[in-house]
Amino acid sequence: MDFATTHPHDDDKMHEECGVVGLWNHPDAAAVSALGLHALQHRGQESTGMVTHDGSRFHSHRGMGLVGDNYGDERVIRGLAGTRAIGHNRYATTGDTVLRNVQPLYADFEFGGLAVAHNGNLTNATALRRALVRRGCLFQSTTDSEVFIHLIAISLYTTVVDRLIDALKQVIGAYALIALTENALIGVRDPLGVRPLILGRVAHADGSESWVLTSETCALDIIGAEFVRDIEPGEIVVIDDSGVRSIKPFTRNAARFCVFEYIYFARPDSIVEGMPVYDARKRIGAELARESAVSADVIVPVPDSGVPSAMGFAAESGIPFELGIIRNHYVGRTFIEPTDSIRHLGVKLKHSANRSVLAGKRVILVDDSIVRGTTSRKIVEMVRAAGAAEVHMRISSPPTTHSCFYGIDTPERGKLLAARHSVEEMAALIGADSLAFISRDGLYRALGHVGRDDAKPQYCDACFTGDYPIPLPDMVDGDGRQLSLLTETN
Ligand code: AMP
Repeated sequence: MDFATTHPHDDDKMHEECGVVGLWNHPDAAAVSALGLHALQHRGQESTGMVTHDGSRFHSHRGMGLVGDNYGDERVIRGLAGTRAIGHNRYATTGDTVLRNVQPLYADFEFGGLAVAHNGNLTNATALRRALVRRGCLFQSTTDSEVFIHLIAISLYTTVVDRLIDALKQVIGAYALIALTENALIGVRDPLGVRPLILGRVAHADGSESWVLTSETCALDIIGAEFVRDIEPGEIVVIDDSGVRSIKPFTRNAARFCVFEYIYFARPDSIVEGMPVYDARKRIGAELARESAVSADVIVPVPDSGVPSAMGFAAESGIPFELGIIRNHYVGRTFIEPTDSIRHLGVKLKHSANRSVLAGKRVILVDDSIVRGTTSRKIVEMVRAAGAAEVHMRISSPPTTHSCFYGIDTPERGKLLAARHSVEEMAALIGADSLAFISRDGLYRALGHVGRDDAKPQYCDACFTGDYPIPLPDMVDGDGRQLSLLTETN
């Protein structure tokens, strides 16, 4: 996705904030995968695709827009014949919203067909792409999935799994990858487990079983699958008619799961790495209330992202929780719109002030994050216009000071409000009477640790700390110097 400092846009590099579903041995593989993709719609709204296999042939559908717009037409589902499927929802950034980038990607090899879909971001994709182009590989898209396809194509190993391992040893990044061959469904999680991938199972009345690989448990719930386990960091699972086989080709490192999945990205009804996201958000809100209490009459969430943490804040502070801002559900996420002007407009379309709750009141607004500051500024203005006496903003994440290079959409660092301003300056810029973010240690405490530095596991929190756990080779310039935005500390 679009989070980058100077180069990714310039290099036409892809940043993928996505959701994936893979299904093995299900009589309604396409329809059931479409349901799973529907549950993962929050992970990507710009395009969706699916590849199925019917025992002898592959079938595919790739389209722009939402899951419902694509698979609502039963002819599409009928065309996706077979008992095995992989599907993908994708969010893309400006300029890259084209059909050729819609995943899964598919290619024919001497060993047969292979479809690949992934969530995340390779940090050496630009370097690998250049090397592959020099060797004669013709790229059809700008998605990192195609890097995997070419690396698999040129590998000297024989089996698909050996070729995949060969490819994985060359890529650097944060990814959850699913692949479908004629004989197997394959899932891979990056060596630090930054992006999520889980295994589920459906037990059928006739004693047969289906296997599911997907990004979040909410996709299992909708299709009636039970959660089996998280795929381990660096693990490859190969699912075929003989069951599930696990391969661990990497040396083991301490996991660094993305903390932003808890804060914003995952759906609140998902259980992530054993912890319900909803509970995590409420606990973060309670910790935020302990850290940055202020006298007020009412706690108001910025819907929907601020709701669970505002509930936690209200319960801890004893101040009543009210819906002072109403969200229009028929508008997509504002952040998802690619240009600044539309994003501004989107905030107005999406939220309206509930005057009866706000007029004359001292209001604490709770949201999950401030990125560019667009949302907070508009919301504070709206709440004041509705007659609020005071507006205090509380944010359930630490200040977003650094861009993500691992699969969450954040803009280049220069556009991050917290990269350029102190908290006091930010309060003035968004027009709030006060502004506070949860501390780094407070966030870790809320997630069950003593503090950040001795947490086991530690999360990937690079967006809040600048501590990037996976190398960023693409961020090195032609002379081997690291690009300046990364060497600054904040
Ligand atoms: P901004 O308006 O740029 O400050 O963005 C902050 C708002 O965007 C908050 O209300 C968040 O809930 C939401 N947000 C934060 N990160 C993301 C993301 N990666 N994708 C979509 N929305 C986000």
